[in-house]
Amino acid sequence: MQADIVTIFPDFFRGPLDYGITRRAQEMGLATIRVHDLRAFTHDRHRTVDDRPFGGGEGMVLKPEPLFECLDTMGLAAQAERVAGAVKQSVVLLSAQGRRFHQKVAAELALLDRIVLICGRYEGVDERVADYLADRELSIGDYVLSGGEMAAAVVVEAVLRLLPGAVGNEASTQQESFTVDASAKSAAGADSTCGSNGLLDYPHYTRPAEFRDMAVPQALLTGNHEEIRRWRRQRALEKTLRNRPDLLEGVALSREDKEFLETLRSAAEGDPSPR
Ligand code: SAH
Repeated sequence: MQADIVTIFPDFFRGPLDYGITRRAQEMGLATIRVHDLRAFTHDRHRTVDDRPFGGGEGMVLKPEPLFECLDTMGLAAQAERVAGAVKQSVVLLSAQGRRFHQKVAAELALLDRIVLICGRYEGVDERVADYLADRELSIGDYVLSGGEMAAAVVVEAVLRLLPGAVGNEASTQQESFTVDASAKSAAGADSTCGSNGLLDYPHYTRPAEFRDMAVPQALLTGNHEEIRRWRRQRALEKTLRNRPDLLEGVALSREDKEFLETLRSAAEGDPSPR
């Protein structure tokens, strides 16, 4: 996969994408990241990328010409072909007004050959970029950043770790929080039988088993795979109910799950204190 990032701060990306799995994916040749300096596509002495908003109001707006020119050099297929899925390319505008970026979108993008990420700044980007240059607008959450760079780094990191081969043990990316399509490889062992399937991940522990009077839950030390599976499933249900009850609606729950959630809910009625 190739990821092209368009920004007025190309140096921003020296660092965040050079660690861990993102770095490894690049070293292994699974992904190439190219950072494009938007100012290289201006033609005036001051290398101007922004201008005042039509209609008045606060702040400055990123001009369309340098962005269109920059993407013209990339040899991309036409927007209509990209949107129709005729080519495996997508041009993304990072925007607080975009659709919410989540794990499913990351998985969709991971199937493409090329993603282009346009980072806005100031009050935002001339809307013709959203309409005629980008295929989609993505927001990484309901808050306003000063620029799209952090958001682009988040998207690239979430996508690259899903490329086949990027993470040593591929099953591990199928068992995490938010992962719905866990075609959980059912090899032997407790680990492989508790894909999160839309729930938040279960808690993890490592050695020492006892640390400053804090003990690792007994169930994990039993070696009993069924007991471990049940314990993990219940903790995942508990945490999802507590922190993200909205996710439970999209989860396929077994009868055992439903009964467990019922006991949690009735216990909560007796003790309404939130955690
Ligand atoms: N006036 C805009 C905010 C502009 S912030 C508004 O109210 O919606 C400047 C730039 O930061 C945006 O163009 C976008 O590229 C980026 N940005 C800000 N918040 C973001 C978010 N939640 N997700 C993705 N990009 C964001």
